[in-house]
Amino acid sequence: MRFLQADYLFPIYMPPIKNGILQINFDGKVVDIHKENSLSGVPIEKFSGVLCPGFINSHCHLELSHLLNCISPNSGLVKFIKEISNRPKVSKSIIKNKIIAAENQMIANGIVGVGDICNTDDTLFLKRENNISYYNFIETFQIDEQKFENTINNSIEIRNRFSSYGLKATIVPHSPYSVPPDLMKMIYEQIDDKSDVISIHNQESKEENMLFHSKDGELIRWLVSISASNKIWKKIHKSTDVLHNIFNQKHLLVHNTFMSKDDVIDAYYCTCPKANIYIEGVTPDYSFFNVNKLCVGTDSLASNSNLSIIEELFCVQENSDFDLNTLLKIGSQNGADCLGFTDLGTFEKGKIPGVNLLRNIDIKMKITPETIVRKII
Ligand SMILES: [Zn+2]
Repeated sequence: MRFLQADYLFPIYMPPIKNGILQINFDGKVVDIHKENSLSGVPIEKFSGVLCPGFINSHCHLELSHLLNCISPNSGLVKFIKEISNRPKVSKSIIKNKIIAAENQMIANGIVGVGDICNTDDTLFLKRENNISYYNFIETFQIDEQKFENTINNSIEIRNRFSSYGLKATIVPHSPYSVPPDLMKMIYEQIDDKSDVISIHNQESKEENMLFHSKDGELIRWLVSISASNKIWKKIHKSTDVLHNIFNQKHLLVHNTFMSKDDVIDAYYCTCPKANIYIEGVTPDYSFFNVNKLCVGTDSLASNSNLSIIEELFCVQENSDFDLNTLLKIGSQNGADCLGFTDLGTFEKGKIPGVNLLRNIDIKMKITPETIVRKII
């Protein structure tokens, strides 16, 4: 049995405890939490800093880890997508090595659960090891009606490969602008009793709003230039219309960079502020999100310098008025709730959430650029 004490213990499901003690067994299972001085005769390990549960990275594309520094920053979403689509081919072995390095980086940064977007099964070899808990979102998009059948069959095949190893996997739409209604129906038909969550990129650019609101802008011009079906935007007036009408599952809307208060629906929201700054140069307006349903993600290394939840939380803090407990809840409990990781997210008794020590939190309980994470368990 271990007794871990820090300047502050953040159980997340209850307020932080000054000098609190976390009692945890050697399997990493939470046995109890204690106030200062409520224990005697046990060996207490003392840490300077803050103890909190392992982090959940609610949105990542692990398979794109070889694209670090390959895509030009600050050029907007349409150019980003074009560059991603035209990326140079690299060998499978480089892709594999970069995936391993990226997972190692996440582990070192205290991440224990990931909502990961998959267009391929490139990450399957590693996920089978269960070093981290993954919810695999098999991402589907296609603007050419002739190819819908092939596209959905390819997604089904990838989904089945993940599920055959007992890994959570659900077929999901990429975004409101890349999945016409008939393909959306095909995705819906693939929902099974293991499909808890539908993840989708949402309102990541101004152009996405313009496409649905005014049928104008760079995105619609690009879609027309690649002969996309106008059914994508014809009867849709805002991004969330595409989901709202069909899926009953939990929704995880990712990015929401250009969302306004009027667009909010009852859903989980994932923010990836460093990627938003990389691609669009802005972060979302955090004033209207439900802090019990706001999650955080790193997006991929194609649009980020690293995979670190504490750096994302620092960025959220600098653009919101959230206190440390709220930020850590966004970084752990909310993602675990959304993705169905019932053992993760808080220091409640019986969970196996991982334990992170945060050093260099300042005197006002703010994350700073110097804050570092040390994985204790
Ligand atoms: Zn993404």
